Amino acid sequence: MPLKVVITGASSGIGEALAREYAKQGTILGLIARRAGALAQLKDTLPTTCHTYAADVRDAQAMQQAAGDFIKQQGCPDVVIANAGISGGTLTEHPQDLEAFQAILDTNFMGMVKTFQPFLDGMRGQRRGMLVGIASISGFRGLPGASAYSASKAAAISYLESLRVELHGSGVKVLTVCPGFIATPMTANNPYPMPFIISSEAAAKKIISAIALRRKFLVIPWQMAILGRILKILPLWLYDREFSKAPRKPRGL
Ligand code: NAP
Repeated sequence: MPLKVVITGASSGIGEALAREYAKQGTILGLIARRAGALAQLKDTLPTTCHTYAADVRDAQAMQQAAGDFIKQQGCPDVVIANAGISGGTLTEHPQDLEAFQAILDTNFMGMVKTFQPFLDGMRGQRRGMLVGIASISGFRGLPGASAYSASKAAAISYLESLRVELHGSGVKVLTVCPGFIATPMTANNPYPMPFIISSEAAAKKIISAIALRRKFLVIPWQMAILGRILKILPLWLYDREFSKAPRKPRGL
């Protein structure tokens, strides 16, 4: 039986690379993103059975409909990857940024919850399956100028941990993925150096291998795993002194 995998944010970047890599293995795919055209173009190039859904992860009803259709056609998926996300600089003092705060939290955090929700009953019933959340090392500490993004990824990391423990012993596994810098449209215009940046193809291969190994937590690339550990234990005075000078993402989505 081929593997069945649902991926959100499949119309570009890491999500698209995951779809391409899984398709090479003959995986049956359910691909979700807002841009129907980009999904249709991708589907045409994939050598596998592929269902596409133009849906917004912020819309619980649309996500339930997409999940319902996939389950009806293919049965419960083996893996659901909540990858859809947006990024942009935000500063609390600007009232115009409130909308960006809302959009980033709604997409990166609540979008993940709305992605998993319709599949959980089925996975529990089968006593197997894997829920994969793409968080970020930006969730390890509050990054200046990226308050909404960091908060959304910290929320995702904590949420995924809660879910993993809630599902302990149920047969359903949870994998938290924290990428460092990956070359995608999201990072294409970052006006600062991006250490240890890797391609979306390399990232997809590492994520797929961690899924196959049933891992619980993955930081990519490995150099960022080391940096991330150091980042987490930096004392406040040192973190504040060094990161107050860090280059920032420009404001806006
Ligand atoms: P990307 O190329 O900009 O792709 C983002 C994807 O999310 C697109 O397919 C987009 O499709 C989809 N998306 C955005 N908002 C959506 C919504 N409301 N509903 C449904 N789909 C939505 O970015 P990426 O770098 O591949 O990012 C993928 C994930 O990795 C994100 O969660 C990001 O935060 C995370 N990440 C990336 C990096 C990095 O360095 N690139 C590092 C750490 C974490 P549509 O526009 O068609 O909806």
